[in-house]
Amino acid sequence: MPNSQFFAFNGEYDHAKPENANARNECSATQLAWLERSVDKAMPALNWSIANENEFLFKKWFGESTRSDDDVREILTDTTNVMTQMGSFWNPLCCDDASGACDTCVPGTGTQAFVTSWWYTNDPSYTYNVTWVRVCAAMYDSPEIEVGFIMFHELVHVVSQVGDSSLGYGKGPLVGLAAQSPEAARASANNYMLYAAQNGLSFEDYDALSNSWGANSFDPNCTDQYSNCGDIAKDCCGETEMSSYCCASCMVFDNTDHCREVNYPYRPGHHNLVFDPEQPGLGLHSPDSTAPVNPTPNPPTEEQCTEADGVFGCG
Ligand SMILES: [Zn+2]
Repeated sequence: MPNSQFFAFNGEYDHAKPENANARNECSATQLAWLERSVDKAMPALNWSIANENEFLFKKWFGESTRSDDDVREILTDTTNVMTQMGSFWNPLCCDDASGACDTCVPGTGTQAFVTSWWYTNDPSYTYNVTWVRVCAAMYDSPEIEVGFIMFHELVHVVSQVGDSSLGYGKGPLVGLAAQSPEAARASANNYMLYAAQNGLSFEDYDALSNSWGANSFDPNCTDQYSNCGDIAKDCCGETEMSSYCCASCMVFDNTDHCREVNYPYRPGHHNLVFDPEQPGLGLHSPDSTAPVNPTPNPPTEEQCTEADGVFGCG
């Protein structure tokens, strides 16, 4: 039992196949194998994320509110645990069209998958969460790891009372939601998915995976204006225009050991963290808790002197 029951699920699971499912809603053997591969591709990141809670990213995606921290942890853990139980705990329907139990998979609406729940009209507080996940045709061409993470999003709905935010699914609005209203962010399934993805993947992989959910957001005051900022910030932004229009990605790369040296003495932001974008969870550490960084930059090479036209103090 969780310490609090804020978003935890108190109802029962309804494992029965939806009565309005029809032949066109069934998954073929090929589709089931595709879903299994998709789940398998997401599992290492999900397991890593559960085993390595990240305080910085937890605050970014869920805000600060101690009363439901344990609910969040329990939902992340329960969802990760049921991911691999396709065919026993949960089952997919593969929706080639918006017929029968797939009625919400309307092409052009952006719906990629959905789940349902039901309750008695005389006791709406007791909910039955249906364990059949509808996978819409809109998802069929997505990268498998992305499909795996979308299944994670759906299963967050199944194991909890968490719904979707009225602000939608985008990274920028949902980071803002966590800062403004932590309890609302904890009631938004995509916040769980994006936390797990950013904590469990390297920044590069997270950036690629989460591209369909908009530009990166470091915090509400530092977001990218372009979806390819993750690529162009790799070479260190420094005191250039790029650090304003690619703020979120520049914040990560400019706070790597490498860019701190390249950009010295420029350092963005007011926090005291060093990132390693090749590690999961941003590989962040506080420079205070590690060996002190040598404040003297390396002397410039001759090549740098030529290219830098004196910027490095050459000549
Ligand atoms: Zn949802």
